[in-house]
Amino acid sequence: MRSYDVTVFDSPLQLTERPTPQPVGEEVLVKIDAAGVCHSDIHICEGFYDLGGGKKLRMGERGVTLPLTMGHEIAGEIVAAGPDSAPVKAGERVVVYPWIGCGKCATCARGDENLCLKSRFLGVFRGGGYATHVVVPHKRYCLPIGDMDTTVAAPYACSGLTTFSALNKISRATLLEEPIVVIGAGGLGLMCLTIMQAMGAKGAIIADIDPAKRDAAIKAGAIAAIDPASPDAVARIRALTPGEAGAVAAIDLVGAGSTVQLGLDSIARGGKVIVVGLMGGEITLSTPLIPQRALTLQGSYVGTLKELEELMALVATGRVPRVPTTERPLDDANAALNELRAGNVVGRIVLKP
Ligand SMILES: [Zn+2]
Ligand SMILES: [Zn+2]
Repeated sequence: MRSYDVTVFDSPLQLTERPTPQPVGEEVLVKIDAAGVCHSDIHICEGFYDLGGGKKLRMGERGVTLPLTMGHEIAGEIVAAGPDSAPVKAGERVVVYPWIGCGKCATCARGDENLCLKSRFLGVFRGGGYATHVVVPHKRYCLPIGDMDTTVAAPYACSGLTTFSALNKISRATLLEEPIVVIGAGGLGLMCLTIMQAMGAKGAIIADIDPAKRDAAIKAGAIAAIDPASPDAVARIRALTPGEAGAVAAIDLVGAGSTVQLGLDSIARGGKVIVVGLMGGEITLSTPLIPQRALTLQGSYVGTLKELEELMALVATGRVPRVPTTERPLDDANAALNELRAGNVVGRIVLKP
């Protein structure tokens, strides 16, 4: 098998060739046909998250060990299974759920494997998708996609699931009746808009500093696209909400201090800000405002296996419009990461081995 690996943090990925692994125990071997390039891969290969105030969360402290094959948006076909695996159909086309926990703790038992403290996330703590093959710990993480294009299916494992899980944290009735604020119109933002459309949501007021991304958001069906750098940004967002009282919810797909603040400034009393993005930063929050505004500040981190199953069922209905996607050969992995880092990507890049 071939893979592009992080061998030293903050350095280009290195091509590695080694014998294709044989699955053992309950493992399943998937031959990869498409692997999405996610913004979080930039943080992983740089080796840290910015916590704000000059503090950094280093990947080594988080349990990431090198060499590492990144890539957690994986679709392909099952080619082999270990002797203890439930029966598999060789050649079955699947999308892989990468947010795998220990499978033994109370959090995993609740179905929240994505929040497990002993996580085995593919492409983060175990080998992932920037490769020709990936070993998946159990068949249950391989969700059949029928004849769906793997380039379409792969990004739902992270970008799709992340936005779907954030949307699930807003009451469905509210989502259908009132506009919400979505901060960030990159790959996640466009994905969020398409899933909202399929869910029958009222719509999103998008905020993004990049005019090209605001245009893309309008084309993808956003109610409005606001430049958060303009001095009247909050007033313009509020003007689009019922009674100008603010939005019931804001989803922050950026996660900088300024964007979380924009979310807090844009919501109504009783509203919530759901922080998804990992750009990094910090905010100062006056504690009396939490009860006085009855506000909720909630984090959302990827999503559960059950949510990916629900999302893939929604996608299979054909109601989710496709996000712009660019296919690149696996050998372009470094170039793809550089383009994403430079902010030049509208939609998603998918690597094809
Ligand atoms: Zn991701
Ligand atoms: Zn666990």
